[in-house]
Amino acid sequence: MRLKKYNLFLVLAASADLDMCWLAIRVIFAAKQTIPRMLNVVLFGPPGAGKGTQSEILLQRYGLVHLSTGDIFRYNIKNTTELGQQAKAFMDKGELVPDSLTISMLESEVVKHPDPKGFIFDGFPRTSAQAEALDRFLNTRNTSITCMLALEVDQEELIKRLLNRAITSGRSDDADEAIVRNRIAVYNRETAPVAGYYQECGKYRGVKGVGTVDEITSRLCAELDAFVQ
Ligand code: AMP
Repeated sequence: MRLKKYNLFLVLAASADLDMCWLAIRVIFAAKQTIPRMLNVVLFGPPGAGKGTQSEILLQRYGLVHLSTGDIFRYNIKNTTELGQQAKAFMDKGELVPDSLTISMLESEVVKHPDPKGFIFDGFPRTSAQAEALDRFLNTRNTSITCMLALEVDQEELIKRLLNRAITSGRSDDADEAIVRNRIAVYNRETAPVAGYYQECGKYRGVKGVGTVDEITSRLCAELDAFVQ
């Protein structure tokens, strides 16, 4: 929009003709109205907070595309791609996959969806560099993050949930308590500060992540609806 405003000033400055001024104003406002506003949500929270479960519900309710970086990495590991092999070494230890790999993977997933109503970013961004890269990238596509909704769950509850999830998920990074604890430590050290990035621009909302699935969904939707209005 800044560029469009700049163009408008140029046209106004270059033209002493009032009709030309009106035409420029109408063209810009018409263009603005034809670009639908996307709903781009960062669903945030530590491992085991329930991001995956809630994303599945929200994507249906709001017609969004769900992008889970963890799921995309696991898909690549299963299909023994080069990216999967590179990511596996980090994931097995509960460490973050390097930003360079993660950011380019995320961007190439976003562009696969030609006309989305919006995205739910689940597990991304996990570092400040990722948050900044996401903003820059969305800006090139004339859109931005609408809000970050953060699920808040205390640490012992997370560990209990992840060890329990291991029984059905088959994920080795859920099954080993030392790796689980490392993932939470990495979250506290590298990912939690990302919340500040969204707090500064008024886009952050914390949501209690304990209770029934329905209760948590209602809390998330209440926050999301307030952003949509
Ligand atoms: P998740 O399924 O979100 O719990 O992610 C599983 C693992 O994938 C993490 O422990 C990281 O090793 C890796 N991963 C997922 N998303 C990211 C990301 N945004 N940045 C770096 N590593 C990630």
